Amino acid sequence: MYRPDKPQTAVARLTGRLAQCAGCGAVFSSTSAFDQHRHGRARTRVCQDPAASGLVIGERNTGTFWKHPPSARLRTHLQHVA
Ligand SMILES: [Zn+2]
Repeated sequence: MYRPDKPQTAVARLTGRLAQCAGCGAVFSSTSAFDQHRHGRARTRVCQDPAASGLVIGERNTGTFWKHPPSARLRTHLQHVA
């Protein structure tokens, strides 16, 4: 089971759709991002390193959290806007 020494993400307050895992302490931008770092079935579900699950760090002025990476389409759009 993934158990970091300390959570790699932290927010001042859980607001909006943010979710914090009771197992590893990591904070996620949504329940789908939370679900992505959990593996196994029912009672055997365990935490996996969010980065190894394909999630990336996001940041707001209230703290940091794991989120889904931007889609290829959005990345392409942002490259053309910048
Ligand atoms: Zn967890």
